[in-house]
Amino acid sequence: MTKPQGIAVLGATGSVGCNTLDVIARHPERYRVVALTAYRQLDKLFELALRFHPEYLAVADADAAASLRARLADAGLRAEVMHGPGALAQIAALPEVDAVMAAIVGAAGLPSALAAARAGKRILLANKESLVVAGRLFMDAARASGSALLPVDSEHSAIFQSLPAGYAGDAAAAGVRKIILTASGGPFRSRAAAELAHVTPDDACRHPNWSMGRKISVDSATLMNKGLEVIEARWLFNVQPGQIDVVVHPQSVIHSMVQYRDGSVMAQLGSPDMRTPIACALAWPERIDAGVAPLDFFSMGDLTFEKPDLERFPCLKLAFDALEAGGDAPAVLNAANEVAVAAFLAGKLRFVDIPRVVEATLAGVSCAASDDLDGLLSRDGEARRFAEGKVAAC
Ligand code: NAD
Ligand code: MG
Repeated sequence: MTKPQGIAVLGATGSVGCNTLDVIARHPERYRVVALTAYRQLDKLFELALRFHPEYLAVADADAAASLRARLADAGLRAEVMHGPGALAQIAALPEVDAVMAAIVGAAGLPSALAAARAGKRILLANKESLVVAGRLFMDAARASGSALLPVDSEHSAIFQSLPAGYAGDAAAAGVRKIILTASGGPFRSRAAAELAHVTPDDACRHPNWSMGRKISVDSATLMNKGLEVIEARWLFNVQPGQIDVVVHPQSVIHSMVQYRDGSVMAQLGSPDMRTPIACALAWPERIDAGVAPLDFFSMGDLTFEKPDLERFPCLKLAFDALEAGGDAPAVLNAANEVAVAAFLAGKLRFVDIPRVVEATLAGVSCAASDDLDGLLSRDGEARRFAEGKVAAC
């Protein structure tokens, strides 16, 4: 029997992290949890440590690490507890780690995902913000080290599965005409524009089909999530912005499609359950049980399709524009969006002001291209400060 693969789950306490551990727990003969990381959810991380016995854990700061160490010692568990952003990158590159699940939310996940790419690890990429902020740098690093990059975002997993086996980024040679990203339309798909000024964070986080972390739930409600996914697709599949279409498909059964030159459209279908793309990325090219109920065609009802409404949901257009503008514009877009979404979730900004903060930040911060991680992170900081000023002025 072959040795189980060593897995590091970065962002283990989150929605994707927990779904990943659910799949891993079904296959102890294939996967071994080497490391788990979390930010501040110590209770949850402690419970996961009791269950999965990782050799390494990482948390936000020294105090959290000391408290976790004490609890582990009381429970008779031995694990090395690390802390701070540097610890995440260190964990991603550990020799015991074969595959890294990059499931931290936001640009905070970039340095560790990039460290995994530089170390040649198999990367299971949920953290789409890594590619939005540093698409070229990230793809170059993965290529140079020979990292296998497996998308976890359900749309990108669908596209990955709908492209020819071994697709290496040459869309023309593969006969690809369009990448078609499906979008559920989020909880406000049929809300009147006037009502959007009054929606609350809980309204925005009540997604019709998917259960996810709060930041991505708000992104789904503004359609910024789809915008970030357009940028993610550009880099993952090496296509031009004009080759990416967005189609609203409220049932979330078709997870995305590839349209070919000859008129064929390849699609991947499934229940809206993240364990499917997670299992696909973990085991690819094999298929493993993910605990997901099979799709029942007789109970699913109609599959419908609509054009996205860019008037009510300007974030999608802002993302396309940032991708067209190039340079650091996507990084600026992402930073401003993170600031605006956090302010909305904290009750300090209206839902309809999220695109306004993003647009103003794109106009107010230089988007000249940075050529390394430090440059991108400093641009990210600059955009955050600018966006915070805009939030305060709203
Ligand atoms: P979440 O909020 O549920 O979990 C985020 C995880 O990241 C937690 O473990 C948290 O402790 C950790 N974290 C947060 N801030 C951190 C920081 N500054 N430093 C270190 N760790 C930090 O988020 P999620 O919904 O699981 O999403 C994770 C990523 O996956 C996001 O990039 C999201 O866009 C992407 N994604 C999520 C889903 C989904 O179904 N939830 C689907 C597709 C893609
Ligand atoms: Mg998605």
